[in-house]
Amino acid sequence: MSFTKFNFHPRIQGGIQAMGYTTPTPIQQKSIPVILQGRDVMGLAQTGTGKTAAFVLPIMQHLIDSPRRGTRALIVAPTRELAEQIHESIEELGRKTTLRSVAVYGGVNKNPQISKLREGAEIVVACPGRLLDLMDQGAADLSGIEILVLDEADRMFDMGFLPDIRKITKRTPEKRQTLLFSATMPSDIRLLAREVLRDPVILRV
Ligand code: AMP
Repeated sequence: MSFTKFNFHPRIQGGIQAMGYTTPTPIQQKSIPVILQGRDVMGLAQTGTGKTAAFVLPIMQHLIDSPRRGTRALIVAPTRELAEQIHESIEELGRKTTLRSVAVYGGVNKNPQISKLREGAEIVVACPGRLLDLMDQGAADLSGIEILVLDEADRMFDMGFLPDIRKITKRTPEKRQTLLFSATMPSDIRLLAREVLRDPVILRV
């Protein structure tokens, strides 16, 4: 099986080639077509499985040919390391596109993050605390979010981020596509999934 069968935009296909990816991983084979259809997804997947590209590629495909500006895709992650890693994957896979990504997390100066938001980054990769902070000061606007990803939801739960996740989700439009990834399925994550996902496709890899 090859990536060409997903019919990604040539500029995205170019990014995939530049990364040296030839065959989609199992989670990519299962989730890319479903995400491209616009369905909500509950993905049970460990890290190291190719999970990042599984959601980054369809997000870029969704955004690439439409002119709207401002934040349109939000990926929420538990740690700054993961947020930075996802942001870098977007920059690498999207290197032949004009799509812009910003990583938003605490412990560093806010101003470069605020500038990138103001310049109109379409994709925001964020840790919950700093994102709420920037929302409160009016620097981050989630009213135009079309796709929301909650990555490593079980880790966010372990770190006590669930109330923040609920606050963030409530600030995004109800009519959105939502993808929730988690390595495990404790009851709190099951409950969160029921709250934020609409008729999800459940994928296990
Ligand atoms: P992730 O699970 O998203 O953290 O990805 C784990 C590693 O696999 C990263 O270094 C990716 O660059 C790499 N990767 C993702 N998809 C593919 C693929 N289809 N072929 C080869 N490597 C991949």
